[in-house]
Amino acid sequence: MANGGPVEHGFPHLETVRASITALYRRLSYDTVRTFSASVAPADVAFGDVDDLHLGAQRVARELVRHFRLPDARLVVGFREMSHAANVELTAGPEYFVELNDRFRTHRRDIGAALAHEVTHVYLHRLDLSFPGTRENEILTDTVTTYLGAGWLLLDAYREDSASSQKLGYLTPEEFGYVLAKRSLLFGEDPSVWFTSPQAYTAYGKGMDRAREDARQPPLTAAGWAGRRRYAHDRRRAREQREQREGGERPGVPYAFTPEGGESLKVSFPCPTCRQRIRVPVRGRVRARCALCRTVLECDT
Ligand SMILES: [Zn+2]
Ligand SMILES: [Zn+2]
Repeated sequence: MANGGPVEHGFPHLETVRASITALYRRLSYDTVRTFSASVAPADVAFGDVDDLHLGAQRVARELVRHFRLPDARLVVGFREMSHAANVELTAGPEYFVELNDRFRTHRRDIGAALAHEVTHVYLHRLDLSFPGTRENEILTDTVTTYLGAGWLLLDAYREDSASSQKLGYLTPEEFGYVLAKRSLLFGEDPSVWFTSPQAYTAYGKGMDRAREDARQPPLTAAGWAGRRRYAHDRRRAREQREQREGGERPGVPYAFTPEGGESLKVSFPCPTCRQRIRVPVRGRVRARCALCRTVLECDT
């Protein structure tokens, strides 16, 4: 887990974040994702400055291991001086050695956040789910931590005042907010009541706006007027181009028309929940169900 440096904002990793959510559904299935309907409770990972450092860290680690249902996994937590915030050695287990930066000795309330990320590394390691590059893999880890209910701790560890700033993980605060919002929309949960950091609250709001936009893209019936107008224009063009056998995806446009020889025109677009691409015929009102996450989609194609 990275540490320090200026805090990056916005949504620079959004494509990898979305790919991570899709990969998670593919690996776990809808039913297993649904079993994570309860987030890590604040009281279970609370860490006061009077608590014993090592016993407290072990207790929080055990709670997170339990959350991810890794019954036999045992985390051995140590502290040392290092440039990273935290690190875990991914071995066959069942013992995993986690190192936390020395500064957590005096920032105990963020130990839960650091351990949430490291326990998710163990979880993904056991699932054999990974992305090719280190950076992509870290984005996958932060996304899964958050989507499965432990990542609100990472967003809450983001704090800024006039003198200093602190942020854990690879996602920007707004991206953590986005994944957390996707989770809230799925489970009907409101994590904002757990935030102790005002900056986390703001970032969550921005992430929620972005997450809601996903459900307002054409051809979904919830799309706004401007989007629908553009969609109608693109559909007309797709029909014209069909004769010329062109079309396909365009950058920045979520949907794509697929004019295939002999077949009727179809449109594909990402599922607003899991981002898997859905394909439906172009014939007015269509109700589709995402095969991966089972979201029912009302479309006007
Ligand atoms: Zn990591
Ligand atoms: Zn879906």
